[in-house]
Amino acid sequence: MKKWKCVCGYIHDGDEVCDVCPKCGAAGSVFAELDEAAAGVIERSRNTNALHAQLIDLARQIERVCEAGIRDALDPGCVDVFEQSLNASFKQMKLSMTEMQGHMDKGKWG
Ligand SMILES: [Zn+2]
Repeated sequence: MKKWKCVCGYIHDGDEVCDVCPKCGAAGSVFAELDEAAAGVIERSRNTNALHAQLIDLARQIERVCEAGIRDALDPGCVDVFEQSLNASFKQMKLSMTEMQGHMDKGKWG
């Protein structure tokens, strides 16, 4: 499927360009059709970016569990495990966010 990129960065998927950009309201005439290679990179990246988004969501869930465990504070061993897990999930979230930022910078987005 063809891909068209608006001046605002929005990517439209379709055989024909859309009439109006749903993001910024610009006319379809400002869209540029992406070549096959650029369209392929975006298509491929969408799946990977969605996987990173899932990892970030899971990391946030782990953070909430760890924070509850730290508040619960049954004993020092438990608190230590929850604190270590909290730090590890925070690091995981930042790794995925950094990777996604890199994708945006390289046009692997949309
Ligand atoms: Zn736009």
